[in-house]
Amino acid sequence: MAQQKDYYQILGVSRDATQEEIKQAYRKLALKWHPDRNPDNKKEAEEKFKEISEAYEVLSDPEKRKIYDTYGYDAARQSFGAGGFQWSNFTHFDDLQDIFGDFGLDDLLRSFGFGDVFEYRTAGRRGAKRRKGRDQEVQITISLEEAYRGTEKTITVQRYETCGVCNGSGASPGTAPTVCPQCRGKGVVSRSAGFFTMQTTCPRCGGSGQVITKPCSNCGGSGYALVSRRIKVKVPAGIEDGTHLRLAGEGEQVAGGRPGDLYVLVRIAPHPVFERRGRDIYVRHKISMYQAALGTEIEVPTLSGKAKVKVPPGTQPGAKLRLKGKGMPDVRGRGVGDQYVEVQVEIPRSVSGKEEELLREIARLRGERVLEKAGFWKF
Ligand SMILES: [Zn+2]
Ligand SMILES: [Zn+2]
Repeated sequence: MAQQKDYYQILGVSRDATQEEIKQAYRKLALKWHPDRNPDNKKEAEEKFKEISEAYEVLSDPEKRKIYDTYGYDAARQSFGAGGFQWSNFTHFDDLQDIFGDFGLDDLLRSFGFGDVFEYRTAGRRGAKRRKGRDQEVQITISLEEAYRGTEKTITVQRYETCGVCNGSGASPGTAPTVCPQCRGKGVVSRSAGFFTMQTTCPRCGGSGQVITKPCSNCGGSGYALVSRRIKVKVPAGIEDGTHLRLAGEGEQVAGGRPGDLYVLVRIAPHPVFERRGRDIYVRHKISMYQAALGTEIEVPTLSGKAKVKVPPGTQPGAKLRLKGKGMPDVRGRGVGDQYVEVQVEIPRSVSGKEEELLREIARLRGERVLEKAGFWKF
């Protein structure tokens, strides 16, 4: 008797879990135990991954689940043959493909030691309608001025596209795929185990019923080639830092399926003068204490050029003067922000001569006590 396994416990679901709950649990654990995400404990991750896949194989199939629920682990395990669960018993590569994408799945299979990855991939084409290429993300950095006006950037992305030589078939031009020797073209293999017979997807051809005899020399039989593409990205005026722009269909391609999407992460570089807070722009401007007391007119930079601002008499340090409509536009066209000029009042660091005399005169007029020249209080 093999060591008993509790499939429900392995997936962390209750015994009455729905198919959807089982699927969600598997998805979560598959992401957690992907060997690439566990570089320090690859071996353990691979074992865990296999274990959760075994549990998923049984619990996601109502028939196998019923056998497990009724007769227990040993009965359920018989369907996998003498050696217990092997990857060739796994019939849910489609789900892994949904979780990790085409190329993620390839990486996974490779790390499990599947050599002929391209055969699997060619194979999956039978169910190609629901396949989607992997999404990609690139990052661009623009200036605040560009965010203010809107801009267009050309980016270069490396992505897999359908091989132009074999049109994605993976077979060398002029050669045709041949019938899979393992399943004789049926795409499934029958396995008789214990008291029932089960059909599983053919591990050799992955269900397509065909294998490639002479791989395309351009793509090595994968049907895909890595190409560099220049893509124009329109960045709308008013865009916020950290926005993802989605370019539908510009991600990785899969033969016979929809291409993935390209996400452009837009970062806005910090500006030496302007500070953005939402739609509003802040600048700091220094004036003297005399200008603050008497009022003045200053010239400040704005994103649309220089602007004159009146500083009213009696302006206090830290006062914010508003320039209406001089802020950032809204990315959805809902109004424009304002610019605020934060006033910094400078006090002279040293005074002398006539200026000092006049200041002392003012202090006397106001009855304010000030230091004498020598630095001593005089009463
Ligand atoms: Zn090719
Ligand atoms: Zn086959």
